[in-house]
Amino acid sequence: MIINLTKNIKVVRPEAKAVFPYSNSIYIDDDVKTVIDAGAGGRAYSDIQVEKVNLVLLSHNHFDHVNGVCFFKNAKIMAGKEEEDTYSDAHTYRKYLGITEWQNLMGDVNRKKLVRNIALPDDIPVNYGFNSVKLDGVFADGDKFDLGQIRVTAVHTPGHSEGHYAFFFEKEGILFSGDIDLAPCGPWYGASSSDVGELIESVKKLMAIKPKILVTSHRRVFDSRDHDIQKLFQQYLDIILKKEEKMLGYLSEPRTIDEISRQEFARSSAEKAPYASFWNKMMVAKHLQRLKRMGLVRELENNYYVKAEDRP
Ligand SMILES: [Zn+2]
Repeated sequence: MIINLTKNIKVVRPEAKAVFPYSNSIYIDDDVKTVIDAGAGGRAYSDIQVEKVNLVLLSHNHFDHVNGVCFFKNAKIMAGKEEEDTYSDAHTYRKYLGITEWQNLMGDVNRKKLVRNIALPDDIPVNYGFNSVKLDGVFADGDKFDLGQIRVTAVHTPGHSEGHYAFFFEKEGILFSGDIDLAPCGPWYGASSSDVGELIESVKKLMAIKPKILVTSHRRVFDSRDHDIQKLFQQYLDIILKKEEKMLGYLSEPRTIDEISRQEFARSSAEKAPYASFWNKMMVAKHLQRLKRMGLVRELENNYYVKAEDRP
């Protein structure tokens, strides 16, 4: 489904719900026909002339944003410079995502078997996991793309992943914020390259833009005439901060990542499937990293963590 934001700027919504393995795309119908992100699925892209698209900009390297790049056969593909190598090298991709931590956090649970069982819809053109993408170039924070009448700026917003970018159409006041997605369960920061502190700063960076219209990867369009976008961003931030506060309280006694991740406050979904459990543990580890850096938590022997004593 196509939603016209302006004459040239459109949202391509997945036919099914915009959740994994799908995500929203932006289509800019201009001299340089451009698509931002490639995870809306084949049926959604049948509404635009994919062979005429000249440029694809990727917000980051996650599967649900990249899986459809092969639909755009005549387009240049570009992504954030921080993640360049993850598109061509499977090991770098897995390391960056955190899959290399699986054994550490999940022990004997067989990941390969789980991946084989991930069934994808028939308009997702590749299998789940790493798929090599040949990039034609990279962009950096502040880079501007002149597409004809439309100009869009890449905004580096690390935290969800190291090379995560939002895209801002300044003249129109339209922001595409990617996976800073205002999900009711809060932000996701389970990758090795995720960072809670950077994510908080990135959300603040987007708030400072004060968009009139906000498009995220996984939700409906927010128009500031109907929604208090600043408040929605703030509530989204508060979910991280509340979770961290509760975690710190729970660490009055030494605990392991396993123990913390089983607590209600640390579970981003009620799902008990191994993958959900793995990402939960990764997110707990990310909070512990930040709390340690801030001097609020100490790591003990045998992978126990405890709140640091109050200093006089
Ligand atoms: Zn993502």
